[in-house]
Amino acid sequence: MKKKALLTAMAILFCILPLVAGCSLFSQEKGSEKKVVLSTNNEQPGHQTGSTSNTLPVSPPAPDKNAQPQAEPEPEPDHNNSAGPPEAPLDKNNGEKTPEEAEQPPQAPPSPGSNNKNIKTVYLTFDDGPNSHFTEKVLGILDKEQVKASFMVIGTNVLKNSELIKQMVAQGHTVANHTYSHDYQYIYGSPENFMADLEKNREILKSLTGKDTLIFRAPGGPARLTKPYWDKLQEKGYKSISWNITGGDSDPAGVTPEQVYNNVASGLDKVEKAHLTPIVLLHDGSQLSSLEAKPGTATYYYIQSRNSVVTALPDIIHLFKEKGYTFVTVDENTPNAW
Ligand SMILES: [Zn+2]
Repeated sequence: MKKKALLTAMAILFCILPLVAGCSLFSQEKGSEKKVVLSTNNEQPGHQTGSTSNTLPVSPPAPDKNAQPQAEPEPEPDHNNSAGPPEAPLDKNNGEKTPEEAEQPPQAPPSPGSNNKNIKTVYLTFDDGPNSHFTEKVLGILDKEQVKASFMVIGTNVLKNSELIKQMVAQGHTVANHTYSHDYQYIYGSPENFMADLEKNREILKSLTGKDTLIFRAPGGPARLTKPYWDKLQEKGYKSISWNITGGDSDPAGVTPEQVYNNVASGLDKVEKAHLTPIVLLHDGSQLSSLEAKPGTATYYYIQSRNSVVTALPDIIHLFKEKGYTFVTVDENTPNAW
């Protein structure tokens, strides 16, 4: 019986001891748990050391993920340089504004091309040529007046008048890309079409002049180009040239030489008041199969307007000369028209 009592007592002890020990262990675990909890609580505000693996992976990816889509258009901040990289990608999302802004920085230091601030410069630009009749006359006047101009040429016309392109280069003028076809329906059908047409003319001009140019003017003006177009143009490094003065010589009703001159003169007044560098748009025009046209037809007025440009050109050049302008040609530093 005593043995049984002893055994029972021992059995009770064996049962109690582990429980007591278990409690202490449990309390230690609790303690350690508390420490863990405390330690994580303490680390969270710090974010410096300790259990950084729990905290850092959570927070950094967030800013990283935000930054990456903004960083993807890296060419944008690169173009803007000091424009503030964090803001530039946001600007890019606004679409058409981006390329304009990308062009603006060169405008900020108002020393376009090789000119000083104090030198007034003007860009004479002739679109849609070359053609076998008017372009040569324009070149003759420019040579006589000893001024340089820029020709925004169409590929199909270039192929028909390649000798005129060589003459332009020989006389020190600049030849720039005005697409191969100038076919609005095709080139504005998609950014891919536009780029293919532009690249086609680029290759033709390169083979003729030996110079690869990325300077272009969009037919109808840059306003027709939406963001997908600008994205592709920027990808290739193209530089858009617009205008801020026009002779109005693409008026389908035709223009007289006086009208062309007056349009340029009044345009110059506005541009000077706005403190802009004048970029004048005139047309030497597309290749024509004949210079004879029935009065009243579109071709008739087209020819009349081309003649008017040729007639008005010396006076237009004199206007700028008298106002102290130097004639320069388009390049990658040509400022924004507006
Ligand atoms: Zn054009």
